[in-house]
Formats: sequence, structure tokens, C-alpha cells
Amino acid sequence: MSHVVVDNPHGLDQQLSALDLNSGEGQGGGTGRRYIPPHLRNKEASKNGFSSFDNKDGGWSGAPRDAAYNSFGGRNDRSKSSFFNDRGSGGGGRGGGGGGRYERGGFGSGGNNRWAEDSREEDWSKPTPPNERLERELFSASNTGINFDNYDDIPVEATGANSPPHIDSFHDVDMGEIIMGNIGLSRYTRPTPVQKHAIPIIKSKRDLMACAQTGSGKTAAFLLPVLSQIYTEGPGDALAAQRNSGQDNGRYGRRKQYPLALVLAPTRELALQIYDEARKFAYRSRVRPCVVYGGADIGQQIRELERGCHLLVATPGRLVDMMERGKIGLDYCNFLVLDEADRMLDMGFEPQIRRIVEQDTMPPKGIRQTMMFSATFPKEIQILARDFLEDYIFLAVGRVGSTSENITQKVVWVEDTDKRSFLLDLLNATVIPSEVQENVTDTQEKPGKDSLTLVFVETKKGADALEDFLYREGYACTSIHGDRSQRDREEALHQFRSGRCPILVATAVAARGLDISNVKHVINFDLPSDIEEYVHRIGRTGRVGNLGLATSFFNDKNSNITKDLLDILVEAKQEVPSWLESLAYEHQHKSSGRGRSKRFSGGFGARDYRQTPGAGNFTSSRGGRSTGGHGGNRGFGGGGFGGNFYSSDGYGGSYSHSGSVDWWGN
Ligand code: AMP
Repeated sequence: MSHVVVDNPHGLDQQLSALDLNSGEGQGGGTGRRYIPPHLRNKEASKNGFSSFDNKDGGWSGAPRDAAYNSFGGRNDRSKSSFFNDRGSGGGGRGGGGGGRYERGGFGSGGNNRWAEDSREEDWSKPTPPNERLERELFSASNTGINFDNYDDIPVEATGANSPPHIDSFHDVDMGEIIMGNIGLSRYTRPTPVQKHAIPIIKSKRDLMACAQTGSGKTAAFLLPVLSQIYTEGPGDALAAQRNSGQDNGRYGRRKQYPLALVLAPTRELALQIYDEARKFAYRSRVRPCVVYGGADIGQQIRELERGCHLLVATPGRLVDMMERGKIGLDYCNFLVLDEADRMLDMGFEPQIRRIVEQDTMPPKGIRQTMMFSATFPKEIQILARDFLEDYIFLAVGRVGSTSENITQKVVWVEDTDKRSFLLDLLNATVIPSEVQENVTDTQEKPGKDSLTLVFVETKKGADALEDFLYREGYACTSIHGDRSQRDREEALHQFRSGRCPILVATAVAARGLDISNVKHVINFDLPSDIEEYVHRIGRTGRVGNLGLATSFFNDKNSNITKDLLDILVEAKQEVPSWLESLAYEHQHKSSGRGRSKRFSGGFGARDYRQTPGAGNFTSSRGGRSTGGHGGNRGFGGGGFGGNFYSSDGYGGSYSHSGSVDWWGN
């Protein structure tokens, strides 16, 4: 028998209210009517078997699309369009990089060697011929039916001198023919709020510090203007340097790659997502994106790099390894992006980041253009920004999860012993008969694809146990946590995204940053102890304008989040169970000495500290902060900073919160 989740949030809503778990006033104290587990009510003794796991990609049924390029006229009208061919015939002068390298806004063409001349002959701003197969591969999974109307209310605040005006349409800024064509193929009809502001800022060559989350469209917000500048300006001396490095290593020597842009990301999954997005916007260009991350075969990644790398997406540890092996040189890297910077610090990557940015050959700040993205801006992120950015613009983007009313949030009282049974009830509310599943061939998309359920648990062990339980109960599910190999994680994500396993059990850190855009239901089987983590989690649903549902199991163990949870529900105009209100009231009275709620105000994760009186009085992080291991202790320059951090295993651990006051006084 198979179980397939269908798109039926209203059915689920009704089912949920039929369960009547919230109506008993005694529930808060656990004295209400006894909950009867579904498998003791009318469940069949055994359920087994469901659609088999296989590796085949779902077929793509759409017709090839090529209109986009014709409909967006690039304003550049250069005549030469010879194909980029990085397999030069060897030989040639070894002229150095030459002047212009350290000059923001130009890749400098000072080198007067033959290779530099060759690269100048190629016009990187012109699209290369289309490739139907690649086009299908890259763009078939693009979002459809996105409703951005709900996004327009998200507040965005830009601070800093001479901030350029925001755009309302992708056509308001000249990003060239290649970018505009790929925006069309991606079916992005209008920019998201972060894109409206970040694109003109980056296009005008300003440094940027943006407080924006995954799900806001931030990846395209930096990729589009960065790639657009690379297309306009061409590779400059980087190609010559790369070819010369081949010479250094002898005729058959392997070439060192000199990427023009570097994106650092905390996790393999996020790096892969950024890479996938980069491939879309590099389509029909001469730019070859590459990705390197830990936990996977380095030999294969080196071979990929050697085929050419102009934009590199990397996790910090693996990149340091590649640099030390002489595979990557950052001498011509004029664009640096730090994505999810707060996560990178939480995971203990600061030494590697500083090694990459400050202690090697990367052009210094002010010469390169630097962009930092972070969901939060605690003190140590501010310090990193001060050290890495020059005269930057600070962009605060309202939180998607909290301000958006397109996520229905339910909080239900469920004792630990009842959690599994209650989960079955929730899942059953969206299960359709097995014959529907059976009628779907393996190459078709499963109906569950549009109705994915993400279940958060606290521990890796808990994730394994719950996956086993659901499997035994006959649900097509998979799981992801830090003890899984990279291959297993990718496989699990694929199974989930494709709808073959429409239920994914995940620990918080393993799921961090994943772009799973069509999650219909997030279930907090175990609530986090921190409200920011809650906001992140529910942000997995209702993304990019879609409707979503988030259900959280609450009991005595979650009392520390009561007040913040109540605030969030009220802020997002959600129904608040009366028992939660009473609990929050009791809790507040018990801990009236406590500082004000950690919850940031106004829907922003952070504000520009330069606007704060006395800003900038922090000491350098070098030597002050503990750098050992992942996420280690936050002993920070004596400043008494206490933010949020993950447990030391880096992945899949429980999320903990130090409870003290952060930079914003929250
Ligand atoms: P991100 O916040 O970068 O992880 O993006 C979340 C999702 O939104 C990704 O699937 C993007 O492909 C999609 N996306 C980003 N920008 C747009 C846009 N302007 N229109 C439609 N979808 C978008």
C-alpha cells in the first residue's frame, strides 16, 4: 500500500480541529481528555510497501523554451562573439597580471601578453549559442505559479551613504542580454524585495551587508548583478594567469584556476543550491561555475575545477584545502560573497574565512567588491563586516516567516508519549488512496511533489527512530541529519523534492538553508528552544509567496519558548490557544526579572549598528574569540556577547541558546 500526500491544507485544517486537541482547557496542564492514538482506534495491523526508491529523475514534460533571449534586448552591441575556449594551444608570453588589477570596477587589462589579448578579443557580454538539452536540465524545475503579491509588504530598510534607488522591475537596470535571457527562462517575472534593493546596490559597485534569509530570493540578488558585471567586464588578466600557471607546471601541467568571483557558504547543501542557481544564470555565457565542499571526493572536485572555474561556490574548509594544494588562486577574485555569514561563524569557520580573505592573495577590501548576507547580525558579524567591507550599504529585509500571514501556524499540546500517534493523525489527514499513487509511473512526478511535509526533530537519534517508525507505518519518508554521508543526504533531498518521499524528517542544522520551495507543512515534532530557530523552520513553508501550514507540538518541556512563541503568533495574526496565553502569563510572572524578550522588533532580524549611538566600540575579534572546533564557546573579546549557537558537532545537534543579551539588546 502506498501513501501519497495531497495538496489539501484546508482538509488538514478541518482534520486538525476535529482532533480537538486544543479545545480542552485542561490541556495545558495535561489533565484534559485522554488522547486516543489512531493506531489504537481503527488502524489496520500492518501497512507496508510504497513507491520504491530509485534514482531516476522525474521526466521533464515541457517544451524547450528559447523565446527569452529574443525578448530581452541587451544594450551592449559588441560585434565579436567568438566562443570561449579555455584550452588554449599553450605557449605564449608569461606577462604578469600588470596594472589595473587593483582597481575596483575593472578587471584591468594591463598585462600585455598574448593571452590577455586573446581574452579581450572574446566578448563575454554576448550569449553563446543555446543548448536545448542543458536548457531543459537547468530550467525545467523552475518555480511556477509563484504569488509575489504577499511579498510586497515585506519591509526593507537601506542605510548608508548614497544608497542607489531601488528597482521595481528587472528591466529597470541594465544587466545585459545573458542575464535578462536567463531571468526569462527561470520565469522570474519580478524581483523579490531583497532583489529590488540589492541588485542596484551591487550593480553600482557598492559593498553590501544584507540581513535576509533563505527563501527571500537572496541568491539571485547577488548572483545576477555579480555575473552581469563579469559579463560586461570580461575575464581581464585571470585567463592569462591561469594559462601561465599551466606553463609553470610544464606542458601537461595542471592549471591553477583563478576565479573572478567567490561565494562562501556554510554547508554543502547550501553551496550546491547556490551552484545550481549560478549554473542557471551562467547559461549561454563564457562563465563556468564550480562548487567545492567537504565530505565529498576531492579528486573529482579538482578535475572539475581543472575544466575551468570563473565563479566558485565553496565551503570554507574545502576551499582552504584547495588553495593549499595550489588548485585555486584568489588573485583576481574581485567579487566576494559571504552567504549565511552568521551560520559560518556559528560553525567555527572564522579562522578559515580570515585565512581566505585576509591572509592570501585576494584583492583587499575597497578593491574587490564584498557582499555579506546573514539572517542575524550579532556583534561578531558586525566585526567581520567592519573588517571585510568598505563603505557599505546595510540592508535589512523583513523576516519572511514572521511577517508573512501566508503561513498558518498551529500550536497543539501533545505529550511526548502521544507525539507519534498525533503525527500519524496529521499525516493521515493528507493521505490519498494508494491507487492514485499506483497509477503514477516512475517517470512522472508523484502527486506528493506539491505537498511536501517537513518534520523537525531535536536529535539525530530521534530522526532515525521517527523515520523507522513512519516507514513501519507505511509512509514514504526519508531523513537528513549530520551523521548521514553526503551522498545519503543528497539522495534524501532528491527523494523528498521529487515527491517520491514526500515526508522528510530532519534535524534543524542539517535542514538549515535548504531551498525546498514547495513545502506545504512544517511539523515541529520537537519545538526548538529558541524563537529564531522557530522562525527559520516555519520559513520552510509558505515560501516565495505560497501558502503553508506549520504545526508545533508543545508540552511542559517547551516552556522556555512560551512567551516568544505567543508574540510571534500575535504578530502574524494567528489563532492563539488559550492555554498558551495562560502559560505565557504564568511564565512572565515567574521570570519578571528577566530582560525583555529576545525577539527582535519590527520584523527585522537586525538593524544597522552604525545608526546606534556609540557604535563601533568593539575590539577586534582576532585573538579574542574562541575559534576551536565547530561553534565552540563564544568567549568574545571580553565583550560578554552571547548569541545563538549550535552545539559542537556542527550538524544535527540540538540548538541551544546562551540566554544572554545580544548586540541589539534583545
Ligand atoms: P533563495 O532565497 O535565494 O534561496 O530563493 C528562494 C527561491 O526563490 C529559489 O527557488 C529561487 O529560485 C526563487 N526565486 C528567487 N528570486 C525569484 C524571483 N524574482 N521570482 C521567482 N522566484 C524567485
